[in-house]
Amino acid sequence: MSQTKILIWYRNDLRLHDHEPLTKAIRQQAEIIPFYCFDERQFKTTSFGFPKTGIFRGQFLLESVEDLKKSLQNLGSDLVIRRGYPEIIIPQLAQELSLSAVYFHQEVTAEEIKVEKALENALTKIGVTFDSFWGATLYHRDNLPFKISQIPEVFTSFRKKVEKQSTVNPTFSQPKKLPEISTINPREIPKITEFGLDKPIFDSRAVLEFKGGETAAIERLNHYFWKANCLKDYKQTRNGMLGADYSSKFSPWLALGCLSPRYIYEEVQKYELERVRNNSTYWLIFELLWRDYFRFICAKHRNKVFYPSGLQGLEMHWKEDWKRFTLWQEGKTGYPLVDANMRELAATGFMSNRGRQNVASFLTKNLQINWIMGAEWFESLLIDYDVCSNYGNWNYTAGVGNDAREFRYFNIPKQSRDYDPKGNYLRYWLPELKAIPGDKIHEPWKLSQEEQKRYNIRIGVDYPRPVVDFFKSLKRN
Ligand SMILES: Cc1cc2nc3c(=O)[nH]c(=O)nc-3n(C[C@H](O)[C@H](O)[C@H](O)COP(=O)(O)OP(=O)(O)OC[C@H]3O[C@@H](n4cnc5c(N)ncnc54)[C@H](O)[C@@H]3O)c2cc1C
Repeated sequence: MSQTKILIWYRNDLRLHDHEPLTKAIRQQAEIIPFYCFDERQFKTTSFGFPKTGIFRGQFLLESVEDLKKSLQNLGSDLVIRRGYPEIIIPQLAQELSLSAVYFHQEVTAEEIKVEKALENALTKIGVTFDSFWGATLYHRDNLPFKISQIPEVFTSFRKKVEKQSTVNPTFSQPKKLPEISTINPREIPKITEFGLDKPIFDSRAVLEFKGGETAAIERLNHYFWKANCLKDYKQTRNGMLGADYSSKFSPWLALGCLSPRYIYEEVQKYELERVRNNSTYWLIFELLWRDYFRFICAKHRNKVFYPSGLQGLEMHWKEDWKRFTLWQEGKTGYPLVDANMRELAATGFMSNRGRQNVASFLTKNLQINWIMGAEWFESLLIDYDVCSNYGNWNYTAGVGNDAREFRYFNIPKQSRDYDPKGNYLRYWLPELKAIPGDKIHEPWKLSQEEQKRYNIRIGVDYPRPVVDFFKSLKRN
């Protein structure tokens, strides 16, 4: 009898550790074919015309796939690479290679589910079995104290119930050896230019030189937890905007599954035993629960998270004002906190959580611009883009999500003073404002003619006047 042959379809789970489909295939002593397909659709444009995968994430993805390929080769296997539509290529391979089964991790949002369903139908037609697994969250779906359809709408209720009634499953151990692939040409990884993208040039102002892949992910965790010992202060530093270590920076690796949240959880537990257990060690897990929450909420509401009316179905009169939107994109709104953050995003593909909340609030509450335009711009540029976290957070900030507080908005100058009291972050990204001393940098439009002369800056020429009168623009449609 011929040996069981299982194809592992890698998606946003580009790792060897804590990988249930791989573990299950190994337990069956199957011949294993690890497979990754660059889906051409991911390199097209968003509904507002931005590249769906921009240069930063494109490069990070290629590095992550390359790292996985190398790790698999080190274990005696390889990663089979193809380009096209997985739902067409996998059934072809299934016939060519006489596969017994296809295993993969499930996703929860529309585009991904469409591909899964098409693949499942095609495999059923040719009599190949498939099994899909839940693997992107900290808490497994089956361990939740409620059904997906009954997930509490508000984060705090979700969190309290989960923390009280659920447990985190242990990680699956990493394989030490894998069977060789002999019957198929694995092929090389394409170059970034083959997807119509330029290779990004590293900007030395970036918080970190992010490198894709599981190897770099584990290195980052070891640095942040163990070498630099930053976890013990995470709660106090997490709202920062400057530097590598104010927050974990795990998000790009989590988004592509190079890092498993359960692995982070186990390392936090180890840290709590060996170093210290405090509010900060708890808070990192708390933040991972936000990530879980958005994924489960997307699983519950499906397409609603992508509608302008959002999860709440609120019909708002969003504007599609491209002139103002472009000023926001380019960091030329005249509000230094917004501009500095938007320039950081454009130059590096990253922005702090504090920054994201402010620029998103500004776009939606002050400029009253369609939040989908902002979400798609983030989708294009963010190195850590994750469909659930991005669209979930945008829903929340735009006021169409499940925010318990009505019409929440950020007072930008106040946020600027609270989170960048000395203006160091603003001066870092807005060199034209460098000479403005102390507190005045947060509201440069208030400088008198005399002061502008003294600090050698002309508001309206060297730095823009505010695009919108901040407070007047705040009203619910
Ligand atoms: C408008 C908007 C869009 C966003 N888009 C994304 C996105 O596409 N991808 C993404 O990973 N995060 C997104 N976030 C959430 C958050 O800003 C980032 O996860 C965080 O800044 C990443 O930095 P870090 O890894 O250092 O975070 P840390 O502070 O170290 O947090 C640890 C981890 O917790 C999770 N986390 C923290 N805050 C949030 C949050 N608000 N929502 C969901 N998960 C969270 C992340 O996985 C993060 O890596 C968005 C937030 C906003 C306001």
